[in-house]
Amino acid sequence: AESQRAASTQPRYARINPLKTTLEDALRLLRSSGGAAKSAPSVEQDPLIPNLLVFPPGTDLHDHAMVKDGRLILQGKASCMPAQALHPDPSWTVIDACAAPGNKTIHLAALMGNKGKIIACDADARRLETLKKTVKKAGAKNIDARHQDFLKLDPEAPEHLKVRAILLDPSCSGSGTRLQRMDHLLPSSTERTLGESDPGTPYEPATPADRERVEKLASFQEAAVRHALRFPGLQRLVYSTCSVHRRENEDVVSAVLPTAREKGFRLAPAFPGWPHRGLPVVEGAQHLVRTDAARDQTDGFFVALFERGSGKKSAAR
Ligand code: SAM
Repeated sequence: AESQRAASTQPRYARINPLKTTLEDALRLLRSSGGAAKSAPSVEQDPLIPNLLVFPPGTDLHDHAMVKDGRLILQGKASCMPAQALHPDPSWTVIDACAAPGNKTIHLAALMGNKGKIIACDADARRLETLKKTVKKAGAKNIDARHQDFLKLDPEAPEHLKVRAILLDPSCSGSGTRLQRMDHLLPSSTERTLGESDPGTPYEPATPADRERVEKLASFQEAAVRHALRFPGLQRLVYSTCSVHRRENEDVVSAVLPTAREKGFRLAPAFPGWPHRGLPVVEGAQHLVRTDAARDQTDGFFVALFERGSGKKSAAR
């Protein structure tokens, strides 16, 4: 009951799907009597993510008509940050490297206005089927869904030479979404110091078994970032996790940074106005984004944006 209480203090978020409706129409419907599930909830616009709506904690929109038909996507604020940070040009070919169940794929499709092309890979056939359903429901038309191990996707294949952006949201420990249910056990935001990494803080896995699992995940994550950096035409890469562990976040960035630099990439500021940055254990940590359930009213996430050359877009908002 205590943990449910902690989780239920977070607002609920839903992203308007511009492939199926407009902000104005969605707000009008939500605010009109009978438009919302059960009682009409108060609804606000999130100041950071365009098209993201914020509802009071406990608002249940699962049965809402606009959720059922794909006009409204139930997606947390932190989970919207990776695609928003990548913000590919609509004309680009983009890879969503670890795409299922497809929440960020359809966010990319929305940002690209269904133009360009998104190659959405997932190594798990069943999860890819879920992605296909997500894509269909959202009305996304520019997706090439592939049952594919991203590590085996050939960067030099002719059709991949024009890949300009990659969103890499690989398997992770999920500690950022798990730990939110233990918010009440964590030190308060004022007591927590960025950079603190004592065992027992959430920046480190708690048990030896967790540590071993996180170590394996981090090896895969690192290999996946290295693979992404091999695509010759790549201009922007977002690496994201829903983990709060340093090992899966800053340490992965730190490990790949020399190679990234050799290839002409630099860490670019994602959401420069966001107050919570990477742990100061890697050069450029101020460009990295962390979200924290205890401070930010959304799940724990991590976002790193790598940029190369004179891409048309610079820093994501
Ligand atoms: N980006 C997704 C979204 O927002 O809906 C969530 C991705 S989930 C964190 C990680 C996904 O990576 C899983 O679906 C998993 O099957 C997939 N995955 C794991 N290893 C992979 C690999 N080598 N190649 C492609 N996909 C992989």
